[in-house]
Amino acid sequence: MRKKIVAGNWKMNLDHAAGVQLFAEILKLINEEIKGDQKIVVCPPFIHIGSLAQLIKLNSAVSIGAQNCHQADAGAYTGEISASMLKSSGTTYVIIGHSERRAFFAEDDLLLAKKLETALKNELIPIFCIGETLEQRNTGTFFDVIENQLKEAAFHLDAEQFQKLVLAYEPVWAIGTGLTATPEQAQEIHAFIRTKVSEQYDTKLANELTILYGGSCNPQNAAELFGQKDIDGGLIGGASLKARDFVDIIKVFNS
Ligand code: PEP
Repeated sequence: MRKKIVAGNWKMNLDHAAGVQLFAEILKLINEEIKGDQKIVVCPPFIHIGSLAQLIKLNSAVSIGAQNCHQADAGAYTGEISASMLKSSGTTYVIIGHSERRAFFAEDDLLLAKKLETALKNELIPIFCIGETLEQRNTGTFFDVIENQLKEAAFHLDAEQFQKLVLAYEPVWAIGTGLTATPEQAQEIHAFIRTKVSEQYDTKLANELTILYGGSCNPQNAAELFGQKDIDGGLIGGASLKARDFVDIIKVFNS
């Protein structure tokens, strides 16, 4: 059975008090309403991690994720955060290669390859994001784009390392835009990713890999998306900032 995951990416939103309050609301709703063994991950800004990690000590269904980490272990990188710092603060997951990091911070697949290695070395579970832009979707190059992202950033890992990853297919044109990939479009790419992983490693590993969908996912469209054969949950941006919406998305797995 593949692990089902719903992960919320708060991005650069919420001051500390607001972050703690939202997290407390999410935990309360989860305790009251969520059953099942799906994993729930909340990825707040770095400075909230310590406080939120204290709050989850009583709820093992929820884990903390970071939104990024540096590729080096330590050193003179002013303003950066290392994987070991995250680990030591109670972080379990780390998003690597989000399209906003690729676009606004010039993170390319070679850099992301190093970040994946560093995250794994420090026993963080990477949520590795891949996906095409609108232009790449419209010109029909999206299969090549996805395959290249996998090859350049992740396929240098050996099978033991790769099987620890969670992948997230996030079409860039669907992130924060209100445009969602149709369940069929998302399923097509998830199945394609599984085929490529199977060719690179083996079918068992491919079948056991958790692949999330991300891009304007909300309580209205989550059930149909997560109901697709190769979609194992979601990476949720905007809707994860509202406790009710986030928990309603997680509830899709209740039935
Ligand atoms: C994201 O940032 O990963 C994301 C999917 O955002 P949104 O849900 O807001 O489209």
